[in-house]
Amino acid sequence: MPKSCNVCAKVIPKEEQVWRKDHGKIRMLGKCLPCERARARAYAASAHGAANLRRNAHTYRQRHPEKTASDNQKFKHKNPGYFADRDRHRRKTDPLFKLLRNMGNAMRHVARNAGKCSRSDVRFLGFSSPNEFKKHLESRFESGMHWHNYGRGGWVIDHIIPQKFYDQRDHVERSKCWNAMNLRPCWDSENSRKSAAEPHDSLLRLVPQEVWPARWEPGGEP
Ligand SMILES: [Zn+2]
Repeated sequence: MPKSCNVCAKVIPKEEQVWRKDHGKIRMLGKCLPCERARARAYAASAHGAANLRRNAHTYRQRHPEKTASDNQKFKHKNPGYFADRDRHRRKTDPLFKLLRNMGNAMRHVARNAGKCSRSDVRFLGFSSPNEFKKHLESRFESGMHWHNYGRGGWVIDHIIPQKFYDQRDHVERSKCWNAMNLRPCWDSENSRKSAAEPHDSLLRLVPQEVWPARWEPGGEP
């Protein structure tokens, strides 16, 4: 006997049947395909539905890392330029994203000869979330600095104790160098003028000693 849809009540034609695995058995859903699709769309659009789907997807990715990696590869292959476009858009609209990306790239650059270093090394910063890091930088803003003038011609990230004072081949030293306490927003014009010299006392005071390079004394040789 043909089943009818329990939403729109029409008899479900064969091509609109939906089959689901339910406790190990494959059973036909009591809804036609268009009604089931509408339900799924509405669920994904609702706040709790979206949250559930996000959480389930997260759990799945954690349980199946290899599958996740191969799915990502397939997606990239089918959608060339997708991530580059998305990044470009976020770089334009989200200054904190742009800044963290730039820093990740810079960290990877210095670490290239020193072993592995990934975007997650933003944890180097010594903060648990990008937002905390953001607040920290804001606390060091000079007058006139805003998130919309971050970048070339505006302000950039400066290492108070210069990068070359640290042994970048050493993971611990590198993480001190890139610790947020050693970073400050600095006008681009000022930053490109100054060479990698020892910081003034007024700036050095912002950097706790545990973040200084190993065996380094201000005034001594780097
Ligand atoms: Zn229906």
